[in-house]
Amino acid sequence: MLKKNCELAQPLLAWYRENARDLPWRHTQDPYAIWVSEIMLQQTRVAAVLGYYARFLTALPTVADLAAVDEDKLMKLWQGLGYYSRARNLQKAAQAVMADHGGQFPQSVEGLKALAGIGDYTAGAIASAAFGLQASAVDGNVLRVVSRLLDCHDDITLPATKKTFTAWIDGQLPPAGDDMRQFNQGVMELGATLCGPNSAPQCEGCPLQSQCLGYSRGTAETLPVKAPKKPRRKEEKTVFVLTCRDKVLLRKRPATGLLAKLWEFPNVDGHLDETAVADQLERWGIAPVQWQKRLTATHIFTHVEWDMVGYCVEIAPADDLPEGWVWAETALDDHAVPSAFSRFVAAL
Ligand code: SF4
Repeated sequence: MLKKNCELAQPLLAWYRENARDLPWRHTQDPYAIWVSEIMLQQTRVAAVLGYYARFLTALPTVADLAAVDEDKLMKLWQGLGYYSRARNLQKAAQAVMADHGGQFPQSVEGLKALAGIGDYTAGAIASAAFGLQASAVDGNVLRVVSRLLDCHDDITLPATKKTFTAWIDGQLPPAGDDMRQFNQGVMELGATLCGPNSAPQCEGCPLQSQCLGYSRGTAETLPVKAPKKPRRKEEKTVFVLTCRDKVLLRKRPATGLLAKLWEFPNVDGHLDETAVADQLERWGIAPVQWQKRLTATHIFTHVEWDMVGYCVEIAPADDLPEGWVWAETALDDHAVPSAFSRFVAAL
């Protein structure tokens, strides 16, 4: 192992200040904006977050605005980012900040962790970047960098490994203040760029090369060690895009589980052929006027993959709809339909 007080911080910070990507959340010390960026960046690429981050902060510039926003509007702002429980937890946490903390974010890791959706990593990231507190923020990028630095072959998906690496990085933190504001960003930046996940590490330009055991022992490319993921479950679905003039039928998904409470096109399990689709429409009391298209689409979630066929059908006006169904404008301006259905949204 590297010795505890090796000079990690100074070369890393010097490199970061020269080479950091210019990202909007790196220009602020506002805990609200930093928190929004950190939640959006969970499981989502930087390039995909940029537009959402700007729109979100324009629509909801303060924690008070987020606490008070209508849920449908919030979902619409989040539409396409996925993992919608993140947005609901954001609002829950914003409401707690308003109700319990007078509109100010708690200035401690423990206080931040008491808010919905904020775990060890996010609390450390906000505490350091917004308040300059001495706190580590260990994400997948940091685990990869540390496993290479230490030439450690323990499985990084295990909590025990994360605990060991966190304790090690805690021993490398600079004092509270400006260096600390950038330290965690620096390790993550290294893990997102030179020491990245999908290609060989670019050790030649790395500020930590002289201290890196993975580099000196030639093992860096084989690290980190990660247990293989379980294969995703596949689910077949038949999706109904039922339109009548400039309206389309939607229904709300259940209050818990995948894509909870978002709007969706009516759908059933399995792949139905046209005869079975006609039978299903009849069971719903819906009269088709014209069959327009048959579409196919796949959507991959973390643990499940949807394999969908969809039927676009113009139907006769219907008022006696199944419970929970609504007529929406085909522009879908007021309804957040998750990107799992984007192929069918495009067909509108
Ligand atoms: Fe990663 Fe190479 Fe730097 Fe080691 S020297 S931290 S393996 S980029």
